[in-house]
Amino acid sequence: TEIYTLSLHDALPIWTPIVGGGQAGGWAAKTLRDQGFGGEICVVAEEEWDFYERPPLSKAALLDTDAQLPRLFSHEAQQALNLTWYRPLRAERIDRLAKTVILSNGERLSYNVLLIATGGRARLPDESWAAHPQVYTLRHWQDAQRLKSRLAASQKLAIVGGGWIGLEIAASARKCGVAVTLYEQQPALCMRSVSAEVSQALAQMHREQGVDIRCGCGALELEEDNALPTLHCDGRRETFDAVVVGIGVDLNLELARDAGLKTERGIVVDSQGRTSDPFIFAAGDVAQHHHYGLCIQSWAFAQNQAVATAKAMLNPDAPGYDDAPWLWSDQYQHNIQILGIPQPGSRTIAREDSLYFSLDENGRLTQLVAFNDARTVKLAKRWMAAGRDLSDVPLADPAFSLMSLR
Ligand code: NAP
Repeated sequence: TEIYTLSLHDALPIWTPIVGGGQAGGWAAKTLRDQGFGGEICVVAEEEWDFYERPPLSKAALLDTDAQLPRLFSHEAQQALNLTWYRPLRAERIDRLAKTVILSNGERLSYNVLLIATGGRARLPDESWAAHPQVYTLRHWQDAQRLKSRLAASQKLAIVGGGWIGLEIAASARKCGVAVTLYEQQPALCMRSVSAEVSQALAQMHREQGVDIRCGCGALELEEDNALPTLHCDGRRETFDAVVVGIGVDLNLELARDAGLKTERGIVVDSQGRTSDPFIFAAGDVAQHHHYGLCIQSWAFAQNQAVATAKAMLNPDAPGYDDAPWLWSDQYQHNIQILGIPQPGSRTIAREDSLYFSLDENGRLTQLVAFNDARTVKLAKRWMAAGRDLSDVPLADPAFSLMSLR
């Protein structure tokens, strides 16, 4: 077997293409340099922009009059990474025998080790929605700019999808004074990522802000020949100034699949981000979590799993990625943090209307959702890592000091 270690002391020339110019690609590039990698780093990116962060796209990028590209690194810091960009271009194919990536313009990039960080694309109910000029998705910087200018001219917005994108856009639209109707096909909001108790709290928060929430809605149809988007649902016909669709993401897995890498929900990787080919790694949204078997599409995963993967690309003994899933969402004046993922059979204990602890049958914390309480999240990360039994702790009692459990 060949030795795949990309030794810093290797006398051979070394090349490391990164396919994907998003947050995971950016953190991988930075980490390779921080770890002393002096070889060439090529970045293949479909967008023309430098690395940027996505969380502001549904908030500051829509609300701030002079919003700028939310750069991942300052211009100077990115220049210092000394990257060779191939953009806007796509990686079309990987020839694993020749260790070459073939780009959409026909160029070929050789690699010793390769990182796939191709992310995903916003889903639409069907092709006809893409053709309507007043139907929006939010994934890229241009999407945010387009939506921002439409929001300024809108009074009535429909949001399709009651996940994190839908809720964050609903909050931003309400801040702009736009009336919002939100359609979710599931019986509750964010149903796949939080407990029923948290879904209810989210719904209440948005209803208090005037959002018309239609959970459990039937199939939506868009009238194709109407300049203003008109939706048919559950026997009603309603016209809006714009429709935003946030119904999830289709991961860009084609490159990995066509190359014969093992894929399930995402690209199967070990804790070090290594795919079924030891010379190819994957990071960010497309990398399936080695323990949970899910793609954790969050800012924290994209950053920290990419950092761990880049270290492992240089050193096979590097520690693997081992963080508990964690994401946050800012809506209205609230900072909502979600630690862990829901497990079937867990019961949820609410502490007033700000903390929701989900415990498994052994009293171990499987998820904490905290509204405006980062301090308890920090503490809960330690409980989770230690597998602490919380069955006898009066978590629901507001008089009981959680900090006493430190
Ligand atoms: P999401 O969280 O998967 O939520 C999409 C919701 O839309 C789901 O409840 C889905 O139901 C529903 N849906 C699907 N098809 C529908 C239809 N035709 N009509 C009505 N509802 C429909 O996806 P997202 O909100 O689009 O976000 C995309 C990704 O970015 C997610 O992975 C999300 O976690 C991530 N993200 C994270 C943050 C954050 O960390 N703060 C913010 C924004 C986005 P089904 O489950 O039945 O499909």
